[in-house]
Amino acid sequence: MSIIRIIAVGIAILLASSCNGQATDSETIETTISQSSERYAHYLGNAGVMISDGETKLLFDPLFEQNFHIYQKVPASLQAKMLAGEAPYDDVDVLLISHAHGDHFSADMVLAYMSANPLVKLVAPKQAVDKLAVAGLSKTDMTRVTAIDQQIADKPIIVQIGSIMIEAITIPHSGGQRFADVRNTVYRVHLQNQYQVIHLGDATIENPPFAKQQEFWDEQSNELLLTPYWLFKNPQRQANIDVHIRPHRSIGIHVPTALHELKKRYGSALDEVDLFTKPGEERDLNSIENEN
Ligand SMILES: [Zn+2]
Repeated sequence: MSIIRIIAVGIAILLASSCNGQATDSETIETTISQSSERYAHYLGNAGVMISDGETKLLFDPLFEQNFHIYQKVPASLQAKMLAGEAPYDDVDVLLISHAHGDHFSADMVLAYMSANPLVKLVAPKQAVDKLAVAGLSKTDMTRVTAIDQQIADKPIIVQIGSIMIEAITIPHSGGQRFADVRNTVYRVHLQNQYQVIHLGDATIENPPFAKQQEFWDEQSNELLLTPYWLFKNPQRQANIDVHIRPHRSIGIHVPTALHELKKRYGSALDEVDLFTKPGEERDLNSIENEN
């Protein structure tokens, strides 16, 4: 069950001296490097995160083309590795798309990813799947897709993919009326040992939509929350996290690259929180098991 990924690097250095009757000395130095832990979060860019848990790998909002000159893109080299299924992006089980906005989702890139990675499954709101259909999603590939067709405040839709259980609810997109038509899917993915990960997409700052889903938040322990940074701004917004979801741990995503400018507007609100800002950075997610 547990696979600790360890690279053992054995370096044998043989120091031999043969001249002038000196003693022959031999020494072996063995170095063990413990790589990333079994369960970890790996940042891609904007709201894109890979969660790896033993044999399970998930990609949230990993393939997009737009950043509106504000947000962190996935670097080209990292994107190429992902598309090629190269480590650490090999053997991905599921792609999860929060919504069909250009800074979270590119239909062309998702299609390319699916054809390059023929075993991967996709879970996405119907609005994104409709865009995939327009972009040329084949009937065969459609069998790997689960389209979430859901309204705000609906009960969760449960998707089972192998041993991975995914719950989906729909929380309004931030920005009020401007994005009222956008279906923003929030996922809670169940990993091994009752470890649940939630990705909020571009969830609203308003409290009532979160309050309406209180039963959902309370049903399970919510170990890790991946939240747009804007919920950290003030106590009213933070209530969505602290009062409603109540996760063990939160990491802010969707952080503008000009973080120093953002901090001018946010005062000290972002000083004490954990933010993903550099593609490739990781967080060890094993520690929760020790807290119980
Ligand atoms: Zn959006």
